[in-house]
Amino acid sequence: MALATMLLVGLAAGCSGSSPQSEQSDPAQMVDSGSWYAKERWPHDGNPYETQHFVVYSDGAGSEERQRLASLAEEVYIEVIDEMGVDPATMFRFPADQEKIDLYANRYNVLWGGGARAYYAGVIIWSFDHEAGPESTNVAAVRATLKHELVHVVEALLKGRFTGNVAVSDPRRMPTWFSEGAAEALSGGSTAGKPRTVEHMNGLIDEYGPINPIAWRVDLPPSDYVLDAYPNYHYPMAQLAVEYLLDADGLDRSPKDLAAVMVEMGSDASFAEAFENHIGISQSDYESQFFALMNGYLPQSEFPFEAVALALASLLAAGVMGGSVVWGLRRASAGAGVSPESGVTVWTRRARRGFVAEVSTFASLTVGSVALALFSIGFDDLPAGANRALAYAATAGYLIGSIAIVMWGIRRWAYGSRRAYLIPPLVIVATLVLNELINQILL
Ligand SMILES: [Zn+2]
Repeated sequence: MALATMLLVGLAAGCSGSSPQSEQSDPAQMVDSGSWYAKERWPHDGNPYETQHFVVYSDGAGSEERQRLASLAEEVYIEVIDEMGVDPATMFRFPADQEKIDLYANRYNVLWGGGARAYYAGVIIWSFDHEAGPESTNVAAVRATLKHELVHVVEALLKGRFTGNVAVSDPRRMPTWFSEGAAEALSGGSTAGKPRTVEHMNGLIDEYGPINPIAWRVDLPPSDYVLDAYPNYHYPMAQLAVEYLLDADGLDRSPKDLAAVMVEMGSDASFAEAFENHIGISQSDYESQFFALMNGYLPQSEFPFEAVALALASLLAAGVMGGSVVWGLRRASAGAGVSPESGVTVWTRRARRGFVAEVSTFASLTVGSVALALFSIGFDDLPAGANRALAYAATAGYLIGSIAIVMWGIRRWAYGSRRAYLIPPLVIVATLVLNELINQILL
């Protein structure tokens, strides 16, 4: 079956007359022009693939991969148009020399910082056989990024110009937060994803500084900070800002209202004016109220599954240990006693068994709790900025404390005083303290 599929794919590739797929095109045959030259001066191999709304250029992607990108683009295009309620025939304003959206599928070239970029009526995005960078060619990843970029293209086509072509100081320039936020909100997020709780948002602010997303009006110059902060902070916060506008629990607008802002800007309205007209709040009010609004909108923290699991495990272990205490006490009163001749404490076999039960219950509870705590500190999706080191220290302290308790019990045993029955309740208390500490530190 797989072999037959491969043969068919090979046949289809052969029929469409592609250039060799494994070797970079001959530099002499490369064409030095294209709409993407506004962004990157990359030649193409002179072998574009055309569909109803797109022309796919490339620096050497296989024809199969070009077709795959084009048909994905057609699918995503229809989605964006439908969601935003846009009629391309009457609303789109293409550049004078273009009738379709250009896609540049880069196989060998790489954009600064990776990823994809939109421009006026075009997108540069890695091909499905991309070789030069770490981009995922998983269709879900390509789809989310392509949708993000096509929202930018729709924005430019509705305005009849690209943001970068309007001066930074010009009130008719689209602010970055709105543009990126709309693209992230409608694509479902192509970066780290919006913060879901106030604690998550505060963690991001602790890490990247208290930047109000609505104040992010202009793209920052490329830097190492941008490489880290854009996908983890700026884009997610912009996504949150626009999702709030769209959410029924927020301002309850629709993607059609976002499109209306873009259309109005096409008639030279300022962004502030268009935004207030269609969204129902002024940009300056949204900026000044942003964190207060988010505090009321986002849940404080997510349901603490890990903490509940830890508490349940502790409860179960506490039940087992409680049983062991009762059993141990009954053995002690029934079996142990003072020998009438020597006055030395004599332990019956049953009393010894009780001690063994207490020590082994201690061991399983301690080992289980430590394993659970280490697992949740190490692998859980904790809020950014959560103090893992402190949580590890608390776990280590718990382990040392529990061992101290059991050592004390054993010492008392050696002196003939049977205080081992205190081990289980003391270890239960230590486990509850650890649970509370981990909650305080991490959540
Ligand atoms: Zn973008």
